[in-house]
This record gives sequence, C-alpha cells and structure tokens, in this order.
Amino acid sequence: MNKQELIDAYEEFEMKYSAYYLAMATMEWDISTTSPKNGKPYAAMRMGVLQGEAFAAMIDPKNLKMLNDLAAIEDLDSLTKRSVTARLKDLAGMQLVPPDRYTYFEQTKHLANHIWEQAKAENNYKLFEPHLLKVIELTKEYYSYYPKKDELYDWMLDDYERDMTTKDYDAFFDLIKEKLVPFIKKVVAAKQIDTSFLHKEYDPIKQRQFMDTIMSYIHYNLDAGMIAVSVHPFTCGLSINDVRITTRYNTHDVASGILSTIHELGHATCMGQFDPKYDGSYIAHCVTSGIHESQSRLLENYLGRSKSFWIPNYPALQALFPENLNSVPLDDFVAAINASMPSLIRTEADELTYPLHILIRYELEKAIFRDQVDLSKLDQIWADKYEEYLGIRPDSDATGILQDVHWSQGSFGYFPTYALGTAYAAQFMKAMRSDLDVDSLLANSQMPVIKDWLKEKIHQYAGLYTPKETLVRVTGEAFNPQYYIDYLLDKFSKLYHI
Ligand code: ZN
Repeated sequence: MNKQELIDAYEEFEMKYSAYYLAMATMEWDISTTSPKNGKPYAAMRMGVLQGEAFAAMIDPKNLKMLNDLAAIEDLDSLTKRSVTARLKDLAGMQLVPPDRYTYFEQTKHLANHIWEQAKAENNYKLFEPHLLKVIELTKEYYSYYPKKDELYDWMLDDYERDMTTKDYDAFFDLIKEKLVPFIKKVVAAKQIDTSFLHKEYDPIKQRQFMDTIMSYIHYNLDAGMIAVSVHPFTCGLSINDVRITTRYNTHDVASGILSTIHELGHATCMGQFDPKYDGSYIAHCVTSGIHESQSRLLENYLGRSKSFWIPNYPALQALFPENLNSVPLDDFVAAINASMPSLIRTEADELTYPLHILIRYELEKAIFRDQVDLSKLDQIWADKYEEYLGIRPDSDATGILQDVHWSQGSFGYFPTYALGTAYAAQFMKAMRSDLDVDSLLANSQMPVIKDWLKEKIHQYAGLYTPKETLVRVTGEAFNPQYYIDYLLDKFSKLYHI
C-alpha cells in the first residue's frame, strides 16, 4: 500500500475500533447503572465475546503490518504518527496473547465482578475469594505472554501509567511513608474537628437535587452528559459530546456523594474538553489513569474542598437541609469536609490519609505478583496492613478487602495512579495559581475561566503527550512529589493547629 492507502486503511481501522469501544462502553454503562441484577451474567458473557473480537481485530497480522508500515513513513503527519506509535506500544505485549485466552480472561473478570457485587452486599469474602484467585492466576498468565521483565507487576503499572515502574513508585511511596505516617499520628492526637452534622439524615432525593447546583456551577453540559447511580461511581466517556457520570448517595454521609460527584465531574470535564479532532481516535483513549486522576482530584480536593468553592454553593445546600445545616456556619462546614481521621473505606477517606490506603494496595499488589504472599490469607494481610499504617482494623469483609471493584475487574496496577495523580494535581495547581486568582474565581462562580485554563494547558491534547511530557509542558519541570507533601503538611498543620 502507498502512503495514502495506508492512511485510509488506518482511518477505517480507527472507525472500527471506536465502534467496538462505543458498544462495549455502552454495555458497561448499562450493566453498572440500570440493567436488572439477574440479567447481568448473560450480558457479561456477551461483553466478553465482543471484547475478544475487538482484541482479535486489533492483533490481526494484516493490521499489525499496516501499523508498522505507517510507523516507518518519515513524513507522516504528527497526529497519525502519535496515534500509531501509541497503538504499537500498547500492542507490543498484547499481540502475543492467544485470542481465546484473552476472551476467557475477559469473561472470567466479568463473572468475578458480578460475584464481587453480590459478595460485597452479603459481606462475604469467601464467596468472592475463588473468583479473585482465578483472576490473579489469569492475570499472571496474561502477562506471561508478554516479553520478559524483571518485575511482572511493571507491565501492569505501565498499562495504567505510561513509563512508570515499581522502582519509580517505590521512591514515591517511600516519601509518603516517611513524611505522612508520623504526621498523621500528630493529627490524630490533636483536637478533633466536629463532623457530626455531616452524618445526620440526608434524604437522597434532596441530595440528587443538590447535584444540579454543583453541575451547573461547574458548567457540566447535560446536553452532552448525564448522571446516574452506581455501586462504584465512575465516568463513562463515549465521545466528547457524550460523557456520563455516576454517583451514589449515602443517607448518613452528605459529603460522600457530593465529593464523589465533583470527582467524576473532574474526569468528565477533562474528556469533554478534548480537541474534537481526537474524537474516535486512539489519542482520545491514551489519557493515562494518573493524568485522568489528577483532573478529578484537582476538582474534588484542591477546588471542591476549598472555602472559596463553598461560598456560592453552601447556601443551596443549607436551603435543602435547613434542619441539619442552618446552625452550621460556612467555616465549620468547610472544616468538617476537610477533617482527617484514619478510616477503613478508601473512597471516603480524607485527603491526608488517602495515600496510605493506596500504599497498602500497592504493597499488596507488588507482593502478589512477586509471589511473596499467601493468597489464602489476603483478607487477613489486608487487615494487618490497615492496622500497621492507619492504626485501625476492618471489622467486616465489606469494609476490608471487598470494598473496591478493581481487583474483580483484574485492574491490578491501577490503584497507584490515584495517589500519583493526586500528586500531579498539586504540581498543576501551583502552576494554575501563578496564572489565575483561583479563590476569587471560585467565590465568584467563574468556573469556566478555570476550565479554560485546564483545557488550554491539559485537556485539549487528550492523550497526545505522555504524563512526563505533560508535566514539563504545564509546570516547566519534571514530576516533583514534594509539592504534594508540602501542600498536605501545610494545609493540615493549619487545620489542626499543629
Ligand atoms: Zn477517579
């Protein structure tokens, strides 16, 4: 094929791949939000078949040849070049996996995910355990087809955050352990902040009404998105004009649903602001988990927990729940949504203890894939680590090893990106604050100005640049976790007067 024929063939390939993606993501959305419980296993098996087909199409030798021929063209336009190079990198290991094993792995994960939901609801790890062990075994098998690496886990880490290895994460988490573990002990010993009013009764229907206030404040376009409820909140970007979010409402924890919604709106804002030319292109799928999480955490923590954010939004919340909040001044409310206290559930953890939840999962995953752990005691080891790092022990499976969806989906290597992305966000915030008066914009409901900054610096490029390139482009320097540590120590020293 000549150059133009190759480019045409690639465009056709991208259209086909994005069609598969659309079908699978729509099914995923349906299974997680509205489909009846009993129909899920049937749908999950068919989804596995579709994924297998998409996989087989991707690693078809004809396609691989087309990709390699394109990559060899010197004067290829930069967008196609990036897209092709990214695909070839992602396919380097995948193409070695036998398609039937891939399909079987996908189906096993879908079933495991279904059983996990049930096990969590019934607070019964024993129900989920054999499925988890099967997913671990198949994950090891899956990556065993890839070229050899000293650390099997490095393949998983790289799948979620390009170019990150165990060595890089070890350095990052060592810093967290060294600086935060002793500091958290001081916070625990300090005078505690009253959060009791956040745990009174909050009608979920009224909580949903408040989400309209938040969505309109953030200028989330409901003509290009929607909000639904799921067990584990997530964002589903089908195209730049269809980016949906889910949330959950906890009757006795009003902050949980709000912050979770803001978090997902951070993901949605990122996807909704891609340059339209990337719609349907592989570049749109190449935003790494770390960069994605930096955008959700930036909105949730660095903006959504600030007093300036709540100046225009708090009155609407008070108006919905006067019996709970009318006697609570804004400053007390803001202090309460920032309060730190070691807790068992990662998704509801405060900003300061959050990275320790991730550290625990990182250490567990690393040990699992180094074969350094007795798999029949995973739930106990989980509990031991909570005791070691946070001084508390889960009193049930649901608040321990069953709490997260990730392992049931075979998403090993994903967790570390949550802490990493939060640390990226600290560095992005520093750059944003040097360009914008962030607090005044928030207090005056000028969110679009902040969104424009994020679009110009980060979102418009989707996955065109690697995380390392993005950090340098936006902040002028390589990733520096010290900004994150400094931010946490400064914020919580002030909050707790220590
Ligand atoms: Zn997220």
